Amino acid sequence: MSHQSVDQAPTPGANPKPPDPYQRADLERYYRANQAVASNRDRLRDAQDEIQALEHSEAVEVFQKQIDLLQKRLVTDPQYFNQLFISEGIDAIAWEFRKDELDPDFTHRLWELLLRGDDMSTLLMRFLWTIPLKSKRKFIRAIDAHLSDRYPMFKGLAVGWPGENNIPPYIRPPEERARDFDLVNQGYLGYLGLGYGFREVELFVWLEVLRDKQCDDRPCEIGLLVMDGGENKGGCPVKIHIPELLHLMGEGKFRQALELIQESNPLPNVTGRVCPQEIQCQGVCTHNQRPIEIGQLEWYLPQSQKALNPDKYLQLAPTISPWANAERPPIAVVGSGPAGLINAYLLSKEGYPVTVFEAFHELGGVLRYGIPEFRLPNELIDDVVKKVEQLGGKFVRNFIVGKTATLEALKRAGFWKIFIGTGAGLPRFMNVPGEHLLGILSANEFLTRVNLMQAHKEEYETPLPTTAGKQVMVIGGGNTAMDAARTARRLGGEVTIVYRRTQAEMPVRVEELHHALEEGIQLKVLRAPQEFVGDHKTQFVTRALLDVMELGEPDASGRRRPVATGTVEEMPVDLVIMALGNTSNPIVKDAEPELKTSKWGTIEIRSGTQETSVDDVYTGGDAARGGSTAIKAAGDGQEAAREIMGANPFSPSELKSLVEHAERYTETGQALPRIVDKIELAEGIVEFVVYSPLVAKTAKAGQFVRVLAWEKGELIPLTLADWDAAAGTIDLVIQGLGSSTIVMNKMQVGDAFTGIAGPLGLPSQLHRYAADETVVFTAGGVGLPPVYPIMREHLRMGNQVTLIAGFRTQALMFWAEPDARIGQLQAEFPDRLEVIYATNDGSFGVEGFVTGPLQELLDAAKAGTGRTVGEVVTIGPPLMMCAVSDLTQPYGVRTIASLNSIMVDATGMCGACMVPVTGSDGKLERKHACIDGPEIDAHGIDWDKFIPRFQQYRAQEDWNRERHGV
Ligand code: FAD
Repeated sequence: MSHQSVDQAPTPGANPKPPDPYQRADLERYYRANQAVASNRDRLRDAQDEIQALEHSEAVEVFQKQIDLLQKRLVTDPQYFNQLFISEGIDAIAWEFRKDELDPDFTHRLWELLLRGDDMSTLLMRFLWTIPLKSKRKFIRAIDAHLSDRYPMFKGLAVGWPGENNIPPYIRPPEERARDFDLVNQGYLGYLGLGYGFREVELFVWLEVLRDKQCDDRPCEIGLLVMDGGENKGGCPVKIHIPELLHLMGEGKFRQALELIQESNPLPNVTGRVCPQEIQCQGVCTHNQRPIEIGQLEWYLPQSQKALNPDKYLQLAPTISPWANAERPPIAVVGSGPAGLINAYLLSKEGYPVTVFEAFHELGGVLRYGIPEFRLPNELIDDVVKKVEQLGGKFVRNFIVGKTATLEALKRAGFWKIFIGTGAGLPRFMNVPGEHLLGILSANEFLTRVNLMQAHKEEYETPLPTTAGKQVMVIGGGNTAMDAARTARRLGGEVTIVYRRTQAEMPVRVEELHHALEEGIQLKVLRAPQEFVGDHKTQFVTRALLDVMELGEPDASGRRRPVATGTVEEMPVDLVIMALGNTSNPIVKDAEPELKTSKWGTIEIRSGTQETSVDDVYTGGDAARGGSTAIKAAGDGQEAAREIMGANPFSPSELKSLVEHAERYTETGQALPRIVDKIELAEGIVEFVVYSPLVAKTAKAGQFVRVLAWEKGELIPLTLADWDAAAGTIDLVIQGLGSSTIVMNKMQVGDAFTGIAGPLGLPSQLHRYAADETVVFTAGGVGLPPVYPIMREHLRMGNQVTLIAGFRTQALMFWAEPDARIGQLQAEFPDRLEVIYATNDGSFGVEGFVTGPLQELLDAAKAGTGRTVGEVVTIGPPLMMCAVSDLTQPYGVRTIASLNSIMVDATGMCGACMVPVTGSDGKLERKHACIDGPEIDAHGIDWDKFIPRFQQYRAQEDWNRERHGV
């Protein structure tokens, strides 16, 4: 309302009043004022009387006390005044919400208040979280209409909100991201990179939470009940209280929300990114068109804390180490994938001394070696490891349970219970013709080379097949296929994914497929390779023949079975990556006959528990389920931890002793493999004596170790030359041929290898031969050291042995002197060991190759003039082993070759050490040197196909040599 001032100009056309000559109006006003003063004086007197009368009444005294209290409270807690003010403000805001629409001014002011990030904004968030959906919609309409200039992501948000529309997390554009390994889905925090402030991003997250319907039946948390009593459909395998989480976030209590998540899941920053939410929490969200981005919210919480407080983020409240406390018995966890990590975390938190034994030199399982950096940064796995360590958990790397020690040995070492989280790391292959060709490898191998060994970076030693500009075919339809395809794309490949069903049946996370296609990866569905064809000269794959498929009847998985139509297509390829899923690695099972496994090799669990057929041994994750998901693995690890906790039968002194034992064992496992002696054997050939007590304790003749000499080096297999269990040492003989071995040979006493794992492979199979038989060993160059322990075992068991040791020239010979190993053996077994030396140049012993003396032995045996050759064992350069094999075959003499193949992990996980072998039916089969070998029947090996595998990285090898100046 506007008021006219007295001296305002008269309205044109109105009748003006005549002037008052006696100023009567002033007199009237004077009179009235006098009257008022008189009457007010009377009223004031009355009021004073009343005040005096009431001053000491009970009501007034109580009121005064309250005023005093209020004054005091305002002095001691100024916040209280703020609250009073705020509640008034909220009333005013509520009043605004009664209007049909919020006006621009109010909307701007409201947003500014929300942006302040103070108590007022938290109250406002709470207010907006609690108002009815109708009012929430009004708010969203207002920010859409009045704030979208400033926030383009608000534009159109109101349409279909909350069920069909939201602010999506920030995903880097395909053309930018397909060239690097940086994170693709940057989540809500990605908006920081676009110039928005932290609080603005927090509000975007909160706007996502505001969509929550606040359902009572919590499908996102517990899933939908399945009638047949099976696992609920969807829901959260680690039982995060999602509705409560959303409630806390809705009220602006982000810190508390993070604490809530971490109670049940120590890896929200990991699971939030890789969990297949579309079939878990989000899959059953009642906003079925556009579910709430629960996964994004899950990882936003820890990541935002990390961004805000990088130093404090990992600091947990200090606790006394469970090892020092010794109040609970030690627990061993085998494998550091999500199942093992969560298990170790929860048990450590409850005061159990926990040691995690991991086969690799790095921790995290598939999260590290499988899932690429652009999906899951490795630093997040490091964070989880640090958290476990802060709680007192310990890690022993390069420790292969089943090889380095059995489960029984771990129990003897003081561990009360064991959790096996060894995953399902054995890749499947197609076993189609041409699979042996170079340029065909498993996704596990390809991804491990890149993710774990950083082979794509110049400063790292591990070789990688050339991808840039190449036609890359990835076979499979799951996450592994997608990761391999997107990695190959980033390395410059022209990538096509080949899948035998249709896109609808692909088991991949929807987001990953979508991203892969956006990044320019082609998808060929209803195609299955039936054969690979290669270049005869180079042995590299050049073409794939694909069966065109159609969908038939559903198979056991419920998906329609692909059936070949009879049509065949051809596709040019330079690199084929097989991502056909994984089966269980048999290492633990093979070492533990009591451990029951299914026909698929997965470890069986007792009904309703995570306990295996072996008492006090638990399992979970892919080891028990077969290839599954990270979150299910974490759920199993969590459940097993619950089962492991509980009453233990030990007295305090027993506990103390167990803990001391287990701690000592852990420390032994953690000890660095340091060089304690170095012997120059011959030109470029060095013998290292290395401290590796646990390997030395279990080593057997014929086995090898996997060596990582330095952090950026490559993993190489080296057959054990000797070991001394009492001294805790192993002997390795290394000839500097490749860049890695040349650099290794420069290491000195006191230096430590980054990691040595073993003993690996199967020990030699030793047979007792008759007195007139001999076992012949043909050793070429540094084939002699691996021959030595096997030969010694044969001698010890009473066999006659003939050693034919071949060298290029005398200068390269070693161990021949009377006080050296072979000389000593001859002295120990003078009647049973015959030694023949051969040199190519005739500088020592027989001139020529080892095959010369071998031929003579075979002929003499055939003619009945010499001992029968019971068996030939050949170790050395592949060409030599091939020649020996070819020589003995017509004589029908069992011949064993010990293969030192190219490999990445040496436990069967990569499949790189493939050996093409002709089966009894004449068909080509694949064996793996590290699982089935290293000793393999030489007559079954297809040497023409096998030998080129040794040369496949020659160009990179040359380049590395140049780089090291060697
Ligand atoms: P793993 O993660 O396999 O860890 C097992 C660990 O045990 C390894 O570190 C291994 O070295 C170690 N180990 C094995 N044997 C021994 C032994 N004898 N002694 C000591 N240590 C041993 N799931 C998802 O949910 N989302 C995804 O996006 C996703 N993407 C994937 C991408 C790829 C490339 C792959 C291969 C898998 C993917 N998965 C995904 C599946 C998921 O990663 C697995 O289900 C999950 O990691 C299984 O966890 P785990 O702890 O059981 O085993």
